[in-house]
Amino acid sequence: ALNGDWARAWMTGAHESMTAHRSQLISLDRDIGDGDHGENMSRGFDAVAAKLGDLPADANPADVLKLVATTLISTVGGAAGPLYGTAFLKASGAVAGQDELDGGAVVALLTAARDGIVLRGKAEPGDKTMIDAWTPAVDAADAAVSEGADPSAVLEAAASAAEAGAESTEPLVAHKGRASYLGDRAIGHRDPGAQSTAYLLRAAAEAAA
Ligand code: ADP
Ligand code: MG
Ligand code: MG
Repeated sequence: ALNGDWARAWMTGAHESMTAHRSQLISLDRDIGDGDHGENMSRGFDAVAAKLGDLPADANPADVLKLVATTLISTVGGAAGPLYGTAFLKASGAVAGQDELDGGAVVALLTAARDGIVLRGKAEPGDKTMIDAWTPAVDAADAAVSEGADPSAVLEAAASAAEAGAESTEPLVAHKGRASYLGDRAIGHRDPGAQSTAYLLRAAAEAAA
């Protein structure tokens, strides 16, 4: 069930994934940015993991997401901190008061997160940003709900689509963020924020499996 325990397990899994992929995200960001994305994300999720224990036992998913938002905003920095912070804040609002999320609530959560990132960063699909992972994830989750998938299958569909979306940034020229200064030299490199989004959504699916 996608309850408060699931949301905590998601964040614990996200912490493990950001730690395990720290060097890879640094290396991706070194190719087309300033090389700090892995450090930013692992620092942020170290702080999230440290704060999870402060939540009350009956915390619901929205409570967990809100704690993640405020923690990432204050610890990640760079472009990704405010973007992910806004994403989790909007996601929290989208599922406020719900003790257990159904497939439709998962779609609402993901849509609100994506829309928050767009509101803040103004990126469009194809700009070679994390939006290129979030948007296919939202679309795949929506399609899965239409096909009657259960909530964990909806998350699985979202995670797989985010992974494909991260890969799809490789041939693109960037139009937002530091990579946009590189012009054609960004071609052939995967966007680090799209990859960290794929890790986040994979952790959400694994926590539900
Ligand atoms: P910084 O670029 O400040 O060092 P990070 O390295 O932590 O920040 O994050 C870089 C990632 O942020 C990029 O890979 C990209 O996915 C994302 N990003 C940057 N600008 C935008 C934007 N305007 N909209 C959406 N995502 C963005
Ligand atoms: Mg960077
Ligand atoms: Mg930076």
